[in-house]
Amino acid sequence: MTERRFDPTRSEWVTISSHRQDRTFLPSRQMCPFCPTHSPEFTTEVPVATYDLAVFDNKFPSLSPKPPAPSVQASGLYPVGPALGAAEVVLYSEDHTATLAGMDQERVYWIINLWADRYATLGSREEVAYVLIFENKGVEVGVTLHHPHGQIYAYPDIPPVPLKELKSALRHLEDWGSCVFCDQIGRERSDEIRVLAENRSFLAFVPFAARYPYEVRIMSRRHAASLLDLTDPERQSLAEIMLRVLRGYDALFGFSMPYIMGIHQAPTDDGGWQAVSHFHIEFTPPYRTATKLKYLAGSEFSGGAFLNDTVPEESAERLRAAVKSVER
Ligand SMILES: [Zn+2]
Ligand SMILES: [Zn+2]
Ligand SMILES: [Zn+2]
Repeated sequence: MTERRFDPTRSEWVTISSHRQDRTFLPSRQMCPFCPTHSPEFTTEVPVATYDLAVFDNKFPSLSPKPPAPSVQASGLYPVGPALGAAEVVLYSEDHTATLAGMDQERVYWIINLWADRYATLGSREEVAYVLIFENKGVEVGVTLHHPHGQIYAYPDIPPVPLKELKSALRHLEDWGSCVFCDQIGRERSDEIRVLAENRSFLAFVPFAARYPYEVRIMSRRHAASLLDLTDPERQSLAEIMLRVLRGYDALFGFSMPYIMGIHQAPTDDGGWQAVSHFHIEFTPPYRTATKLKYLAGSEFSGGAFLNDTVPEESAERLRAAVKSVER
């Protein structure tokens, strides 16, 4: 059973997807469904002996192009909808133990091109309003398969987090006449203290009001609404700065850093969001020290009010040193 139910007390859609309970959970390397197929006895999700990058529909999709009819009757109080959209898996490499941080710039550049293609293709579908590209890395953030991969969800509406961001940006535009992200870029570049890395087209920084100790944003220096607005040299520039940040993360505590990565860009409905959509990537690692995780607890979960036990400027200093330590 898969359907979307609306919570009228939060004005939020929730996807109810019971079949996902049967997902493969941390299989051994020999049983990895994302490795190439090496023997006829065990066909993986990729039925070829070798591959470069791969993208395919999630075997246990929460959202799909032809979802089943909802199992319950909708009402005025409780709207119900089919789980319409898409859920795709992107395999970054055929190498089971690879991570983005360890890849060369050319491969990351091709992954970015693939993201742009999928954003365009999924976004052009009538029923798709928002394309979210993300990666969950590490068991700490609930990963069920180790093989290096990311995911792409296409939603029939704009999900709550980007929607909140877009509405804030709209308010800022009305009040100040400028894009809040462009203003943020200007401020971070002049403050310098939270900046981790910069190149021709992108800036990486710890946000002024970081919610997590080592939260990082990589933001386009010019107002580009989506991946499709990035030129070829800008995509190379993005690959370069992503690698600097990711390698810095791994150097910070001396282990491969788990994180949630999410890409925020323009919705693909006709809502006229271009002026307030500013391409950026958000990285949220769950660690606050080498041995301690940050958990969402009462204030964050019930109140939505984040408490950060570290000073963003100090986290930025440590992370900047880590980024510098691995630069070649
Ligand atoms: Zn694998
Ligand atoms: Zn902007
Ligand atoms: Zn964002």
